[in-house]
Amino acid sequence: MNQEDKFKNVISHAKEYGFVFPSSEIYDGLSAVYDYGQLGAELKKNIRDHWWKSMVQMHENIVGIDAAIFMHPTTWKASGHVDAFNDPLIDNKDSKKRYRADVLIEDHIAKIEAKVEKEITKAEKRFGESFDPVMYKETNPRVKGYVDRINAIEGRMKQCLETENLEDLKQLILDEEIVDPISGSRNWTDVRQFNLMFSTEMGSTAEGASKIYLRPETAQGIFVNYLNVQKTGRMKIPFGIAQMGKAFRNEIVARQFIFRMREFEQMEMQFFVKPGTEMEWYAYWKKERMQWHLDLGMPEESYRFHDHIKLAHYANAAADIEFKFPFGFKELEGIHSRTDFDLKQHEEHSGKKLQYFDPEENKNYVPYVVETSIGLDRMFLAILSQAYEEEQLEDGSERAVLRIPSKLAPYKVAILPLLKKDGLPEKAREVIHGLKGAFMCQYDEKDAIGRRYRRQDAIGTPYAVTIDHQTLEDDTVTLRERDTMEQKRVHIKELSGILHENIGA
Ligand code: ATP
Repeated sequence: MNQEDKFKNVISHAKEYGFVFPSSEIYDGLSAVYDYGQLGAELKKNIRDHWWKSMVQMHENIVGIDAAIFMHPTTWKASGHVDAFNDPLIDNKDSKKRYRADVLIEDHIAKIEAKVEKEITKAEKRFGESFDPVMYKETNPRVKGYVDRINAIEGRMKQCLETENLEDLKQLILDEEIVDPISGSRNWTDVRQFNLMFSTEMGSTAEGASKIYLRPETAQGIFVNYLNVQKTGRMKIPFGIAQMGKAFRNEIVARQFIFRMREFEQMEMQFFVKPGTEMEWYAYWKKERMQWHLDLGMPEESYRFHDHIKLAHYANAAADIEFKFPFGFKELEGIHSRTDFDLKQHEEHSGKKLQYFDPEENKNYVPYVVETSIGLDRMFLAILSQAYEEEQLEDGSERAVLRIPSKLAPYKVAILPLLKKDGLPEKAREVIHGLKGAFMCQYDEKDAIGRRYRRQDAIGTPYAVTIDHQTLEDDTVTLRERDTMEQKRVHIKELSGILHENIGA
């Protein structure tokens, strides 16, 4: 199955089993807005809890807050979002489709990168063990040509974006002969800047109302509370403040399912450090955050770092953790060294000091900040697309299985009475009663046992427990494991321990 088909299947599977629905679907949906169904809400909650636990509970020097979505409008002036939270947009006059100019160019670069990869794979086969890809990239004229071209395009794009030279950004698209993927034409409009913040009005009368924004990131809620938390929590630098919650962006091009939404959730942590130590912490958090993904059992080859060439106005270093989604490697999480930009800006706009008295240094300073910022919905998509598999079984049949990391699975265990009679359902309820305080359990008595197993595989339930007549005699049950489909007989009393050990919830 190619990746495009796989992605389509993931989307329809997500809908069919109650993970994700288009928003207000009975009215034909709302573009780039989605609702999480009964299983999606569980998976999302588990990701959220896991992130909170690893960032807050497991770190003595990190605390969490929950700031409001609405913030004083000056916040967004100070942060630079009113003036600079723009994307360069361009329209194709034939297809009438709108694109982000930088994304068009990045996609174009990705195509050239794919050519490089193809050449390398070919050469690898030709030269065998002794093949050195780095050397090959530097010496093979054709490959070197591609690499030089990529560097030239990236350099020019960076220059255009930094100097807001929109004319040259368009010229770059024309010079590279980038065509609209839909119409195939090069009939482009000029590039314009488009602010991504949603605004609304607060107050009841039109004259008295003031314009406020729906937060485009959760980070600013942390910055404006920096001093409140530092003082009341008696926090000593280095320390972190974590937050998760909704963010809103009026994205120009919103596609690829829940990858790019107009309403989404972020999980962010701002780590306040002594100026001059930020690069150490930046390296530390890059490593830590990558490890967080790998510790979930996600495969290493699905991840890579992408160091930014174009730094945002607030950063002195930035990298993305990219994940191999079915549509290619894309940003899943960002690690940014934000300097003292935000706190200084808020000092200036509010007239309040946002400093830290360092008892060791015996002086005040504005801390520097290293942030980790991950999209909850993107993590959800990463997990779902990684987990989804259509598997051929030995008996010739097929099953769709979601190999979701057990600790994140919506249901941990399904309790299945073999028959709907002879006291088996009652016994099953008894088993559920003993487990449901600690684990999300699902009860299912409908259809043949094989079909019930398939249903649990399809929603990613790591364990199924079958109650049969023997259970009534000796309190043993069949425990089936999702990934291996292995079954073993265990005592009811053992279930809780086995689940705790293997799920680690
Ligand atoms: P992109 O380049 O993909 O637009 P970004 O660099 O603007 O993302 P950040 O501002 O760094 O993203 O936001 C941090 C994280 O929030 C991202 O890594 C991503 O996981 C998530 N995120 C950002 N925008 C969206 C969106 N529109 N829908 C879903 N998640 C998003």
